[in-house]
Parts: sequence; C-alpha cells; structure tokens
Amino acid sequence: MQPIYLFNTLSRKKELFIPLHPPMVGMYVCGPTVYGDPHLGHARSAITFDLLFRLLRYWGFKVRYVRNITDVGHLESDADEGADKVGKRAKLEQLEPMEVVQYYTNRYHDFMRLLQVLPPSIEPHASGHIIEQIELIKEILEKGFGYQVNGSVYFDVEKYHQYHRYGRLSGRILDDLRANTRALEGQSDKRNPFDFALWKKGAPDHAMHWPSPWSEGFPGWHLECSAMSIKYLGETFDIHGGGMDLLFPHHECEIAQSIAAKGHETVRYWLHNNMITNNGQKMGKSLDNFITLEELFAGNHRLLAQAYSPMSVRFFILQAHYRSTLDFSNDALQAAEKGLKRVQAAAKSARALVVDADAPPSQELIQWEQNVLDALSDDLNTPVALAHLFEVVRWVNTQTDKKAAIHSQDQNRLAILLEKIPADVLGLSSEEQEDSGSHLIDGLMEMILEARNQAKVRKDYAASDAIRDRLTALGVKIKDTKEGASWERG
Ligand code: ZN
Repeated sequence: MQPIYLFNTLSRKKELFIPLHPPMVGMYVCGPTVYGDPHLGHARSAITFDLLFRLLRYWGFKVRYVRNITDVGHLESDADEGADKVGKRAKLEQLEPMEVVQYYTNRYHDFMRLLQVLPPSIEPHASGHIIEQIELIKEILEKGFGYQVNGSVYFDVEKYHQYHRYGRLSGRILDDLRANTRALEGQSDKRNPFDFALWKKGAPDHAMHWPSPWSEGFPGWHLECSAMSIKYLGETFDIHGGGMDLLFPHHECEIAQSIAAKGHETVRYWLHNNMITNNGQKMGKSLDNFITLEELFAGNHRLLAQAYSPMSVRFFILQAHYRSTLDFSNDALQAAEKGLKRVQAAAKSARALVVDADAPPSQELIQWEQNVLDALSDDLNTPVALAHLFEVVRWVNTQTDKKAAIHSQDQNRLAILLEKIPADVLGLSSEEQEDSGSHLIDGLMEMILEARNQAKVRKDYAASDAIRDRLTALGVKIKDTKEGASWERG
C-alpha cells in the first residue's frame, strides 16, 4: 500500500499516517454552524476533507467519517458572550430555532451534493447530544478542571495548565493570554477572561435550553466536538479536521476538555485547511466580500463576472494546496473552468484512441500515474497532482493529433488517470455527467411544451393553460412566439 503523509498541526510537521486500528480510520471534522447560507469557505473545508475521505477509501481504508452540525451553543463572540447564532436568526425570522437548523442543514446538504462532497458516515447534531455533553462536564468537574458559578460551568485554564500545557495546538502562550485578555463587563463570573464556558445558564429569553445539574441552560460551543468525537470514534482516534479559523479557541479548548476528562490526547493527527481570500483579505461573513455558493453558481454577486458550475468551483479549490490560502478571483475561476474542461475533453479523446497490440507501452504514463498518486498521498498535494494530470492531457492530445495507436496497457492507465482518479479521488464529474442533468431537463421541457402545443392544436385551452400554470408555479416562464414556445427559469 502507498504510504500517506499528513501535516499534523499538533507536531507542526508532516508525518507518515499510520491508523490506530487499520484498516479502520476514525475521522472527525467540524461541520457548519447552520444559521446562514453555505459559502465558499464551507466549500473549501468540506472539499478538503472529502478529498482525504476519498483518498483513504481509494487506498482501501474503511473510514468512519463523522462531520457534525452545530445547531446550539455557537455564540456571536468567542468570549462566550452574545446571542446564539441560530437563536438570533430564529428570532429575526420569527421561526422556531429547529426550523432554522433544518432549513440551513438542507441547504448545506443540497450544495454539498452539487459539489460532489460525499455525505459523512455519521452527522451528529450538538442539540441531539446534550446528555453526552453534560456527562463530559461532570467528568471535567470530577477531575478538578472546572468550576461552577451562578448556574454556569467554566473550564479552569490556569489549573489545567499546571498539569497539561494549554496552547499546544495553536502555539498561544498562556502568559500572553494573561497579559492581553481583559475581562469584559458582564463576564465577572469567570475567574480568568481566557476561561471558557462548558455550560451557560440561559437568559430567560434564550431560545434553546435544557435542564442540567447546574441550571436550565445550554452547552459551550467547544464541548460538542469533544463529546461527539469520543462517543462515535472512541477515546483515541486518528484524524480531526477543520478550518484554520477553528484552531483557536475552538480546537485548543476541545483538546483541553478532552485531556482534562480522559487524561490523555484523544486525537492523533490534527489537520487544518486554510482560508479563502480576496485580494489578500480574508473572505468572511462579517466582510462585504463574502460570496454564498448560490450566488457563485448563479453568477449573482457584484464580484462575479459570470456563473460558475459546481465542478469548476471544486476544481478551483483543488488547484491550491489545502494549507495555502486560496485567493478568489474571476480569472482564477475561469482558468479552473478551462482546466476542468481540458481534463474532461482529454478523457473523451483517450477513449477514442485506437488500441494496437504492436504499439509500445508508454513509460511516461507509468511514471505520471505514480506521480499523481504520490502527490495526492503527500499531504493531499493537489496542485502537483493536477500538474502531472495535465502532462497526461498533453500526451493524449498529441496522440490524438498524430492519430497514433496506443498499447492496451496505456488505455487502462489513461482510464485510471483521466476517469477513475478524477471521479473517485478528486470528486470531479465527467463532461457527460455534467451535461446529463441539464440535457435531461431540456429534453423533458421539450416534451412538456410539445404536449401543450398539441392541446392548443386540439383547441383544448383548459389543458394548455393548466400546463402553463403548473410550470409558472414551478418558476418556469413560457414565452409564446411565432416560432413556437420557449421557456426560461423565472
Ligand atoms: Zn468542532
């Protein structure tokens, strides 16, 4: 089996990946907080860990992939203050918080499906694991690393630091935190401003709350990932992933909680994907340069010159290494669109090449296949893998131009390089797959308009109007012209 190397954020170096219980691999990734539409940042994190999930499966591992849904406890401020993000949205839209959760979870799933992000093996919700979180708080309190004040429970960072090093993941030094974090008003419950909430007593108007031994309230944001990863993957598991923006405080606090409760590290390899930037500036919700996936696929945003297909967006993301920042631009997205089309076209041309038993097998293709797999297994080095893939594309184009025959081994190798690896590992669809969705709709619409036309010819206007009304209700506009009817999405 091919060795796989992963950059472990905890050790700050690339390490050979050896699962604890091969061929099983336990992988936990922090999923979305479901209070808004999925955006480019969500896509990058999901695609990064989807790629790892697919690669591990390609090499024969059985992966239990847990990606959570944060639906409670993520407050507006990292300092345990402010409104719950989901609760705030529910209040704003006069919805039940679970309606907000369901709506944005559905939206997230829809867009992930379009991006060919495979569903995880388990997708636990924080709100469905309140009991596990309460049990974990009890364990932390029993070990002496938490304290209770006015119905809330906080993690005692100073105490923890006496036994285990706080800041081991992010490199934050407690001395600096002591010097730089000031207690905010209304936070006097905490012994230290850098302590974090395990349980918060809910204010009377707080939408989501549960009974606990300490108060009617809700769990701290970091707790869900400790509780749910341990529940589904055990007290020691292989991989924990997430966006770089979660490194501190979320993951640092998660490590502290898990070690405080269990006495040891629970995660063996920590992986973080970098952010998407625009002109070097982080793209984020709080900034006006933030683009949702819906806007991206529809071309509906002031920064967008056109609409981009989900596969072009996926290709754009794969063109950068996951630990580098990825700068958003129309040029880069258009280049990705072109690059994807070149790979898809080469796959088609490769199938049309004539096989001849007398043609010598290509040594270059053998080398390129190894290079592509080496690059992907070298900490998911997709830019290098794609560069080798383009060498294959050029080779196919040359053979096609020369109308040269190829050996049957070459044909098999090209199918692996241009079809199997793109589909199974990179998660890219073929040209035919990309087309089939829209072709099917075009074909169906043609049938429907033809049926409506037949009804008109029969002077059955009730039927033709009914068809038009049904289409209008679906957001499809019909235009009648001399040449016949045409349609467009409203
Ligand atoms: Zn998390």
